[in-house]
Amino acid sequence: MKHFDAIIIGTGQAGPPLAARFAGAGKTVAIIERHKFGGTCVNTGCIPTKTLVASAYAAHVARRGAEFGFATGDVRVDMKRVKTRKDAVSGRSKKGIEEWLRGLKNCTVVQGQARFQSPNNVVVNDDVLQADHIYINVGGRASVPAMPGVHDVPFLTNSSMMDVDFLPEHLVIVGGSYVGLEFAQMYRRFGCKVTIVEMGSRLIGREDEDVSQAVREILEAEGIHIWLNAKCISLAKHDSVVGVAMECREGPPEVFGSHVLLAVGRIPNTSDLGLDRAGVATDKRGYIIVDDQLQTNVPGIWALGDCNGRGAFTHTSYNDYEIVADNLFNADHRRVTDRIQAYGLFIDPPLGRCGMTDAEIRKSGRAALVAKYPMSGVSRAYEKSETQGFIKICVDADTKQILGAAILGTGGDEVIHVLLDAMYAKAPYTVIQRAMHIHPTVSEYLPTVLSKLEAFV
Ligand SMILES: Cc1cc2nc3c(=O)[nH]c(=O)nc-3n(C[C@H](O)[C@H](O)[C@H](O)COP(=O)(O)OP(=O)(O)OC[C@H]3O[C@@H](n4cnc5c(N)ncnc54)[C@H](O)[C@@H]3O)c2cc1C
Repeated sequence: MKHFDAIIIGTGQAGPPLAARFAGAGKTVAIIERHKFGGTCVNTGCIPTKTLVASAYAAHVARRGAEFGFATGDVRVDMKRVKTRKDAVSGRSKKGIEEWLRGLKNCTVVQGQARFQSPNNVVVNDDVLQADHIYINVGGRASVPAMPGVHDVPFLTNSSMMDVDFLPEHLVIVGGSYVGLEFAQMYRRFGCKVTIVEMGSRLIGREDEDVSQAVREILEAEGIHIWLNAKCISLAKHDSVVGVAMECREGPPEVFGSHVLLAVGRIPNTSDLGLDRAGVATDKRGYIIVDDQLQTNVPGIWALGDCNGRGAFTHTSYNDYEIVADNLFNADHRRVTDRIQAYGLFIDPPLGRCGMTDAEIRKSGRAALVAKYPMSGVSRAYEKSETQGFIKICVDADTKQILGAAILGTGGDEVIHVLLDAMYAKAPYTVIQRAMHIHPTVSEYLPTVLSKLEAFV
């Protein structure tokens, strides 16, 4: 049996910085990884997809060359080279994390599947590791729902999409949420036919209706087919194509594609961890139940990142690390409920989101004001010929603090941070109106947008 001050299971977005924090404090730490260093974000999530989005954007702009005053001829995407670029960017991060961890004094890197044997013991390969502090950062994977025919056809997930080095003739994407939409637009821009099949009545159903509608229009304008209200999705093999059948209120009952991507949500990697032997409680969907400081029901065991169900982003996982580390090493009582919801949807133009949606504001019953402004009125967007989308900001009528915002438009993923930081500062929106912003930027329009606040209906 090997004893450590701390054991970390998984090298996602929280585990490695936490290992470094322990090691830096002179504590012994073991970090265990069963597959690729860096986990989802680095290998099959954010980094590779945003690298692919960048290739797709370049191809898209090249096709619009005539508008900007240059000629390119026929733009054809070489998927092998696109994949090589993606692998290089992703591989650099993976290598960086592994080398960083292996180079840390006091840190032992263990490769293999970790399973609890008891609340203090974890088995990896044939070794038993022991510690009084154990941190679970095992992440999640693509969910494969039990839809009829799913195991009769070859389907892709965000992981297997990373091996695609050819252009599918017709990619059918089941799921019209964040992951599905990013793949949809990039593959359309790479040059293939793309159809999205979504069970709900609109895309990205958690967003405001006007956001969903604008995103739908952006994607349809690029020739992506979208079928909503597909209540009963089933899959079947027909010669060389895959049929995706649906009970649709709109559109035909079946769509035939050369390839099918399932993008219908994620499930946590918690079923093969031996959590029962440690007595760690999960909810019905397998997410580890944690308190506001990310402790599980078992003293000495914490859960960070996607596996605790308190966030599903790289920045929420990293923020989990900060909360745990600050509580441990700085006695700074940070809590999950102190953080403000924020994320991006990296289609083009991107969506930057922070705080509450319209529906959440209505449900809260507070008096609110809202302002909405089209990107076509923003000179920077106009100069770039990227005028799709809008800026929407909601504020509390009494405190004047920002409650939530959606910026769908060029630079929206960056500009949103102006509002997010004002929210963390608990500053009234009038502070933004008195700030001098740089011209020409999208941010310089925020005071203008805020001058249009009116009662929320
Ligand atoms: C296609 C896609 C695009 C995304 N894009 C974005 C984006 O743009 N922005 C954003 O913020 N988020 C994005 N995300 C989400 C983001 O990738 C995750 O939220 C993020 O990686 C946090 O993961 P994590 O730290 O919980 O663990 P993960 O990164 O999932 O890592 C968990 C690690 O634990 C290991 N592991 C699991 N079980 C065991 C075990 N028993 N023993 C040993 N090791 C184990 C796994 O092999 C893995 O390496 C995207 C996700 C997907 C799928």
